[in-house]
Amino acid sequence: MSLIQHRIGGAEVGGGATAPLHDPATGERTGEVVLGRAADVDAAARAAARAFETWQDVSQARRARIMFAFRDLLERHEDDLARLITAEHGKVLDDARGEIVRGREVVEFACGIPSALKGEYSDQVSSGVDAYSFRQPLGVCAGIVPFNFPVMVPLWMHPIAIACGNTFVLKPSERVPSASALIADLYAEAGLPDGVFNVLNGDRETAGALIRHPDVAAVSFVGSTPAARHVHETATAAGKRVQALGGAKNHAVVLPDADLDHAADQITSAAYGSAGQRCMAISVVVAVGESADPLVARLADRARAVTVGPGTDPGSDMGPLISADALRRVTGHVDAAAAAGAKIVVDGRGRRPGPGHFLGPCLLDDVATDLPAYTEEIFGPVLLVLRAADLDEAIALVNANPYGNGTAIFTSSGEAARRYQRAVHVGMVGVNVPIPVPMAFYSFGGWKASLFGDTHVHGPEGVRFYTRAKAVTTRWPEPRTASGGLAFPTAT
Ligand code: NAD
Repeated sequence: MSLIQHRIGGAEVGGGATAPLHDPATGERTGEVVLGRAADVDAAARAAARAFETWQDVSQARRARIMFAFRDLLERHEDDLARLITAEHGKVLDDARGEIVRGREVVEFACGIPSALKGEYSDQVSSGVDAYSFRQPLGVCAGIVPFNFPVMVPLWMHPIAIACGNTFVLKPSERVPSASALIADLYAEAGLPDGVFNVLNGDRETAGALIRHPDVAAVSFVGSTPAARHVHETATAAGKRVQALGGAKNHAVVLPDADLDHAADQITSAAYGSAGQRCMAISVVVAVGESADPLVARLADRARAVTVGPGTDPGSDMGPLISADALRRVTGHVDAAAAAGAKIVVDGRGRRPGPGHFLGPCLLDDVATDLPAYTEEIFGPVLLVLRAADLDEAIALVNANPYGNGTAIFTSSGEAARRYQRAVHVGMVGVNVPIPVPMAFYSFGGWKASLFGDTHVHGPEGVRFYTRAKAVTTRWPEPRTASGGLAFPTAT
């Protein structure tokens, strides 16, 4: 049985209340995680504030070198991290490795922070006067993250915050805390000074205290929409800068001219990968015109072929849900939709390859749009099929949905794809790509109820979020000249 503690100022700190950890594939208790209370929150924020006093002055070159070392350690420990993810989340090991690779790409972006932080300069804006602007770190930044990507979602935040010169307090999900403890070890091994990256374990009470702490300047949140909305309101009321990413209901629109086999393969992977527990999972297919019946037949064949089993089994395509509660909630949506007249084309409800929280892929057709299965985020391996007469009707359907995280269109028409990408009120759009998660050098974020705040995460918007601009106007009537040694100059 493991006991996961905080990592504050470079030291393991524990004590006080704990919450149990479980293996979702067996339902067995595997350890405990400490739940940070007011004194722990204060200790973490203060440690980060102390570290900021010196870290903000460390050169960009040195910060980038630490990121390079951290990036290599992430690669070397990919299997260790993947095993920790699978043990607590349940996703299959290949999927866990995939999230580590995508998270590592953000560290690769952070390795180039000197480029991203380059400012602006205007010569001779007035006689003998020059003007320039540059960006400075904010101070202590907090990250509060969900269970579904224990490594990738935190990596959207802390490498950029730290490379920009901030210090960081990460509050992992209380259901999957172990990977963050290893991340703290890897940062230390990479040479990051104590207190620059801290891990504060806990629940929503811990998160609430962290958000309100006077030493915290900015909050990055990723989680469900009600929590994201609440965090955005609380943090802005407390005067913090905040970006709060919420839940999703992602639609894939399939036009009759699409390659239906390709579309069915891609949608199956995006709907059932990670047991549907991805904010970018496709949970609704909008089949346009005569694509509907042949598409449903193809999706059904593929859903039935998905192998459900423990994430550690190389033969499994899909692991269990995170908890017994999640299994009950997701199954409840399928039960209620069936009772209200939806057609259960593929029923995953009896597929229990083990004692854990397993549910097989479910495919539902003829779903009324006022059913909770459609109006709420299910966050499980349940794919709904809706039908639309034409592209305009499909666009209207997607835009009427309160969420706007991701969407995809499958078509062979460039004109239709272009019309769709311009008309949908969604932050991330895929054309024949089912999970359009932007690369690390772009920014990730949804619209509407999928994001509260102004900036998206990572990429250029991440750099803007974790820094503030300063504009300087200078006049130097008597210029001086600097002199140095003769050695070829290098950054120090
Ligand atoms: P959750 O909202 O229950 O918890 C997320 C984190 O917030 C956890 O660390 C939790 O301890 C904390 N928390 C919960 N309630 C809080 C509150 N009222 N105040 C402050 N902190 C609070 O989410 P979850 O179940 O862990 O994750 C699944 C959800 O996350 C889904 O809705 C999914 O769509 C969403 N998600 C969104 C994105 C995105 O990029 N938009 C990415 C991943 C996950």
